[in-house]
Amino acid sequence: QRAHTFNFNAGPSALPTEVLEEVREHLVDFQGHGLSIMEMSHRGKVYEDVHDQAIRDLRELMQISDDYEVLFLQGGASLQFAMLPMNFLAKDRQAGYLLTGSWSEKAEEEARRFGKTRIAASTREENYQRVPTLQEIVYDEADAYLHVTSNNTIYGTQWATLPEGNGTPLIADMSSDILSRPVDVSKFAMIYAGAQKNLGPSGVTVVIARKDFLLHAAQDVPTMLRYETHAKSRSLYNTPPTFGIYVLSLVLQWAKRQGGVDGLAHSNSEKAALIYDAIDQSEGFYRGHAAKESRSLMNITFRLPTPELEKAFVARSVQEGFLGLAGHRSVGGCRASTYNAVPHAACVALRDLLRDFAQKNG
Ligand code: PMP
Repeated sequence: QRAHTFNFNAGPSALPTEVLEEVREHLVDFQGHGLSIMEMSHRGKVYEDVHDQAIRDLRELMQISDDYEVLFLQGGASLQFAMLPMNFLAKDRQAGYLLTGSWSEKAEEEARRFGKTRIAASTREENYQRVPTLQEIVYDEADAYLHVTSNNTIYGTQWATLPEGNGTPLIADMSSDILSRPVDVSKFAMIYAGAQKNLGPSGVTVVIARKDFLLHAAQDVPTMLRYETHAKSRSLYNTPPTFGIYVLSLVLQWAKRQGGVDGLAHSNSEKAALIYDAIDQSEGFYRGHAAKESRSLMNITFRLPTPELEKAFVARSVQEGFLGLAGHRSVGGCRASTYNAVPHAACVALRDLLRDFAQKNG
């Protein structure tokens, strides 16, 4: 049993209760094999079946063609900030970055260690309240790749329509919105995401990379930091994070039961609308950080009239079982992360709390 909580954590974040119950059921003795999945070899059939099924399920859910590799790596999305330029940038080359928040800034800073970077568009001057319009993006044929962050976890903005590569290999950090809405994978050279928001527990990073893009990788990269190493061995070059991949496999099966990406997208937009409506109908008591056209369906950021009221709101929310509503330390205010596994009922409860708090304090 779980205590009565509404988990709006930004990541690691809510996992489906039924997945956790399944994990518990099999934790000590995995499917009658007499040992936990944590205790078995990654080179045995039992684990390998789980591993391969997870790859197949992700392919099915995201409609990933055979032109792409699906990899399970470690080091989080943060290692991808470095691994990407290590493999695909060089001292005499440049890459384009779309700056839309702290995570894209970090990705761009890391790339500068390996080559030149160019800002293809930025909304930094506007405190990242919106993502650039597609018309604002400046393309350059000289770019080795163009990097975009599909959802900005901290600022609560999201590209409603993802940019195109226009002939340049397009790379997306989808850490905070992968599997939350339909995405045409064929438009991307590579997609990466830390698992700990929409896919499973921390410790696994999913990389989806086009095979012909991987052919362009530098050859002088350490073995473990080459995509090719993992692609050639189905992500079993060394010991993968087996337990995390197992939980991820259960989350993917759960996602299929929710109607796949379309089902999840439908539910996510309903969930977010509950909360955004409460913000918009509060007569200015709550102010959303994001411009309406850039609003994230995954991270809903808002302010209250004063820092004191923000503190009081968070304190009351905690008393009533809400978790994770304080905003990121770098922007303040409040944030509700409504990832795939956050139930509709939790968002209804948050809407009611928002209304009631505004009524009593407005
Ligand atoms: N990119 C985005 C969009 C994120 O939200 C995060 C984590 N919150 C990261 C990258 C960094 O991920 P990790 O902690 O897995 O390195």
